[in-house]
Amino acid sequence: MAIETVNPYNNKSVKKFDELSEKELENKIATADKAFSSWKNSSFSERSKLLNKVASLMKEKKKELAELITLEMGKLIAQSEGEIDMCISVYEYYAENAEEFLKDKDVEVKDGKAFIRNSPIGIILGVMPWNYPFNQVARMAAPNIMAGNVIAIKHASNVPQCAKAIEDLFLEAGAPEGIYSNLFLSSKKIAKMAEDKRIAGMSLTGSEGAGSSLAEAAGKNLKKSVLELGGSDAFIVLEDADLEKAVKNAVTGRFGNMGQACTSSKRIIVVDKIADEFLKKFKEKLVGMKVGDPMDETTEVGPLSTEEAAEKIEKQVNETVKAGAKIVIGGKRIDREGAFFEPTILTDIKKGMTAYHEEIFGPVASFYRVKDENEAIELANDSSFGLGGSVFSENIERAIDVASKIDTGMVFINEHTASRPDLPFGGTKRSGYGRELSALGIEEFVNKKLIRVS
Ligand code: NDP
Repeated sequence: MAIETVNPYNNKSVKKFDELSEKELENKIATADKAFSSWKNSSFSERSKLLNKVASLMKEKKKELAELITLEMGKLIAQSEGEIDMCISVYEYYAENAEEFLKDKDVEVKDGKAFIRNSPIGIILGVMPWNYPFNQVARMAAPNIMAGNVIAIKHASNVPQCAKAIEDLFLEAGAPEGIYSNLFLSSKKIAKMAEDKRIAGMSLTGSEGAGSSLAEAAGKNLKKSVLELGGSDAFIVLEDADLEKAVKNAVTGRFGNMGQACTSSKRIIVVDKIADEFLKKFKEKLVGMKVGDPMDETTEVGPLSTEEAAEKIEKQVNETVKAGAKIVIGGKRIDREGAFFEPTILTDIKKGMTAYHEEIFGPVASFYRVKDENEAIELANDSSFGLGGSVFSENIERAIDVASKIDTGMVFINEHTASRPDLPFGGTKRSGYGRELSALGIEEFVNKKLIRVS
């Protein structure tokens, strides 16, 4: 894949970047390694100062950074600004809390003293996706830089200007060279990089294929990895739910970021008693949405990230409909230039159909009607993914009971799955392993060293 900005609003190429040569790559890794040898001994206040400066620069440059996101992957401009706000909160959160999270932890012993000291381990290589080009990086970079590690990022090939802008932000904030390095690289080079002794850990957010390939390379070289992969989150609505709230959340949960989030509410599962009413209201919200330029504040439906992404969604929807599913609304490409696809609701989806098994990474809600709570749980768990999920019920005890029976890393009650600095984020099954954000996210790439005093 070329390292190139292609505006998905009109599919025109904007700018191309060269891949790093072998020599340039070696220079970057050597610089990062050298930076680690002093950064690992830096104080928490020095690290906090850097992240707070990055956050304040992002506040100043919010508009231009948001425009880069919208230019490169088509996100609606207000949502791009929201992404920058989210990043700022991630950097500030770790700047404030990392020292407390990483402080020595006593181990109870019968005699003498023992404690765990969290030590940094080296260069952490991040392979990052395009769907939240600033925020996915922040979730990985902020905790690791606070832990005393240094970061090298191979970003998705379609967001090179965002990738470069993040490196520039760190340099402008005063980071010594090598604390944060942007690597313009083909994904083919990643497995080889796992062999490099200077790379201490690897983290990937993206597809199952990319995740398993990175995990294989990391495992072969006995390196720790964290994987945040796809999802097909269930959004369960029980008969005692606040219907208006559930419908509102289904719309933002499924169609925010044009449905291109690992935790999008991809499978809407509603009990029979309220299914017709829910579906009617859900459909109404999608009628007459304004399609257009994602840079225009008034646009409600923008393009997908790339032409290929729109083609893939079209194929998945066509296969599902051909196999017997019905379209409630949408279902096809929008007849204009650019990577557009109509906001879509599908019903009558059965086991064996594409939409039942595959993740649809775009604006397509799969609507399921179930007899009762038990059938909802069974359907929710009949997925190879295990990332997030939601339960809507005004009976919180009941909702917690349902949540505890769903095989995923996260379940949100009466809201769609969301990412917040103070909540751990991650999945089970084919959605990956490890956690980002919160106190858990900073513990993934540290050496939990035992110090025993007799
Ligand atoms: P990819 O998994 O292909 O891309 C994510 C990142 O992984 C990119 O930086 C990509 O580089 C890199 N990559 C791709 N293949 C490999 C590999 N074999 N070894 C190492 N790195 C690799 O995602 P796509 O953009 O193709 O999206 C496809 C699907 O991925 C979506 O439908 C969705 O299921 C999932 N996805 C999930 C995300 C999440 O948030 N969990 C985010 C984005 C995608 P390059 O761009 O150069 O190919």
